[in-house]
Amino acid sequence: VAESGLRMFMRYDRQAVERKKHQLSLSQALHSAIEQDQLFLNFQAKYDIHKQALSGCEVLVRWQHPDYGIVPPSLFIPLAEQQGQIIEIGYWVLKQAFQALVNWNNKGIHIGKMAVNISGRQLMEPDFIDWIKRHLTQYGVNAALLEFELTETFLLENFDDCVNKLNVLSDLGISIAIDDFGTGYSSLAYLNKLPLNVLKIDRSLIADIESNLQTQSLVANIVRLAHDLNLRVVVEGVETVDQLQLVQQMGCDVIQGYFIARPQSEQGYIALLSSANSQ
Ligand code: C2E
Ligand code: CA
Ligand code: CA
Ligand code: CA
Repeated sequence: VAESGLRMFMRYDRQAVERKKHQLSLSQALHSAIEQDQLFLNFQAKYDIHKQALSGCEVLVRWQHPDYGIVPPSLFIPLAEQQGQIIEIGYWVLKQAFQALVNWNNKGIHIGKMAVNISGRQLMEPDFIDWIKRHLTQYGVNAALLEFELTETFLLENFDDCVNKLNVLSDLGISIAIDDFGTGYSSLAYLNKLPLNVLKIDRSLIADIESNLQTQSLVANIVRLAHDLNLRVVVEGVETVDQLQLVQQMGCDVIQGYFIARPQSEQGYIALLSSANSQ
């Protein structure tokens, strides 16, 4: 027993060491990810239930590493936030997103808003607002085409700092969405004090919405309260027609999820748009 216990311990220990090593090399690799042009963007369509039409997209960053393959953002974004590289990555994403908007505009492709995830740490950068103003001008991007998604947890933990900055962004014409709603405090009391336009219900709530009556009434209540606050409700993670019908009955405005489209390359996304338009 003692021996197998020791062996087990060593096995777990070795796994921990391997994990640590992997994390370490990943974090070193992240330093050169931008330099070596390993990041790229995916675009995931959003669908307006009332208009029955595609209504914009969310930009999602991807990292193609030569040895590790595609590293999911759930792994490297938290790492980048810890190490501070999220600032550089965030600006890179914004520049690429602006460029895509310019390209689409030049090609006559108009598709509503483009949503970009903004890390809380990036919003807190002293230069962030000025950077945005400078680059909107430099690229010639219409601010009304942009939506910034910020997580509920971050907004509520840094409430006072956020109010001013979000007000400036909002005055510029950028739409503000509260992201991952339903995973943190879900405190509706704060919501009317922030210049919000959109509330995004997290996909964890949608995953069991068909089987769990409690989740169902929670989502229905969030939708009602959000509408009382004049917020548009976006539901993410819609994968089935049953989920779509449920959230439609609840009055949700926009859906995003594999049922409509997966995140895809710029080319794939544009192809989706033109096939939707020609229908
Ligand atoms: P998020 O902002 O909540 O993004 C939605 C995530 O749900 C995306 O995962 C998307 O691919 C996935 N998703 C969308 N529809 C479905 C569906 O129907 N079913 C399932 N199972 N999943 C669906 P992804 O792309 O892996 O991104 C994970 C997270 O990484 C994002 O969560 C966001 O927090 C972060 N992230 C991604 N790109 C960026 C970025 O450019 N900047 C920052 N700061 N964070 C980013
Ligand atoms: Ca998001
Ligand atoms: Ca989300
Ligand atoms: Ca989420």
